[in-house]
Amino acid sequence: MAEAQKPHPDIERILIPEEDVRRRIQELAREISRDYAGRTPMLVGVLKGCILFLSELIKEIELDCSVDFICLASYTGTNSSGVVRMLLDLRDSAQGRDMLVIEDIVDTGLTIGYLMQNLQTRGPRTVEVCTLLDKPECRKIGIQPKYVGFRIPNDFVVGFGLDYNERYRNLPYIGVLKPSAIASRKGS
Ligand code: 5GP
Repeated sequence: MAEAQKPHPDIERILIPEEDVRRRIQELAREISRDYAGRTPMLVGVLKGCILFLSELIKEIELDCSVDFICLASYTGTNSSGVVRMLLDLRDSAQGRDMLVIEDIVDTGLTIGYLMQNLQTRGPRTVEVCTLLDKPECRKIGIQPKYVGFRIPNDFVVGFGLDYNERYRNLPYIGVLKPSAIASRKGS
């Protein structure tokens, strides 16, 4: 029998264990493979939070697809600045492509709203969003991703690619960070 996961000392509780994350990603991949059958979607990973989600997802997608990346900066620490900057742009043309944006989490929706608007100007055939996590309570704009792994409450989470000031991305589960871990790193 598998041993129970011991959380990192800065984690208050595991919100979604590793097996559940992996199982749900397999389901999303099946859904995407069905919906895009006969097409060659362009998966657009939003760095850096997408890294683990995207790498698990593409292994399970049974289609020809391409992968490209975009890097956006929208947050410092745990608070939304509401300001989105593009740090790295796509290498491939989006013209006529079926684009599927791969996000770690949609919170206020400001980041994905900005990205959707930006991608729409590049002449794609379709643009959809697939996010591992969704915090619908926090939405500031009316945007609903087509594919959602898990709807979660308004807690600050880390792990499975999600960071807090560049830490915790390598945790294999989604966990809620202890308030003390947030407080102790403010301004550091
Ligand atoms: P939004 O623009 O939708 O408010 O935020 C999107 C970005 O904020 C995500 O791509 C992620 O980088 C960051 N973010 C929002 N909520 C959380 C959270 O609970 N944990 C972490 N680690 N990042 C978050």
